[in-house]
Amino acid sequence: MNRKFRKCSIFTAFAFSSIVQFAVAAPQIFDAHVHLRNTEESFLEFEEKVKAANLEVSGIGAMWFGGGNQALAGKPKEIRAGNDSIIALAAKYPKVLPIATVHPYDGTAAINELKRVAAKGVKVLKIHPHTQKFDAEDPRVLTLVQRAGELGVIVLMDNAHILPGDSEKLFNLALNAPKTKFIFAHMGALNFRFWNILKAARTAEGLFGDNIYFDISATVELVADTPVEAEFIWTLRNVNLDHVLLGSDYPQYSLEQNVRALDHLDLTENEKSKIRYENARALFGLH
Ligand SMILES: [Zn+2]
Repeated sequence: MNRKFRKCSIFTAFAFSSIVQFAVAAPQIFDAHVHLRNTEESFLEFEEKVKAANLEVSGIGAMWFGGGNQALAGKPKEIRAGNDSIIALAAKYPKVLPIATVHPYDGTAAINELKRVAAKGVKVLKIHPHTQKFDAEDPRVLTLVQRAGELGVIVLMDNAHILPGDSEKLFNLALNAPKTKFIFAHMGALNFRFWNILKAARTAEGLFGDNIYFDISATVELVADTPVEAEFIWTLRNVNLDHVLLGSDYPQYSLEQNVRALDHLDLTENEKSKIRYENARALFGLH
């Protein structure tokens, strides 16, 4: 073997191994639904669990409330401190997309806090009718979400359908605030079928602003490999698969559970990569 040839074959081997590495590289993941009860401590625990599951996460949508931290009405100082804690975490860890909250019944204080966090770069506001004990139909909710839309803040709302009329109320809220983008978490859970109405809503002229997105956290784990899996896939395509995000709902569910469940669904690889990362990249303007 002459020297020139040997060099060439080393190069070929190197190039080949890079291609192989590229081909088996872990797919990019954005987890849009992470509860970090003890901010940094919980974040590091989350990271450890992701690593132990052999996953790599490019970004997470993180909130400080839920799982014990309730963000109830009448406690604007507590809410402000919580929001500041998640903003500080995001400043330290670039992969964290901070999700703030307010309570709609706090009225002006809620609007002022929304403006304050928006000015600090917060792009997502989460409000939760069940744990924060408010009615999604209350006019103060509409005022708040309209203001969020004006500020370019996306509104994430729980949609686990554990309250009567949950999906119906959220659907009408989104129709009444067409300039606000919404993410409905859990996509109605086991009432996901309701959301096929979006296919019909698009045919009604001037009705629907295509402003609804979903995360499928926990629900994907509930439905994968069950008799309703095919209906769930049919729903994902009807609501607009470009508007569907992956989430974990950590710590109630792990990212690993949700990723494995998504893997099991009978979707194309392109559809899965949209749900795992691409749709979040487009919605949140990630780089
Ligand atoms: Zn949650």
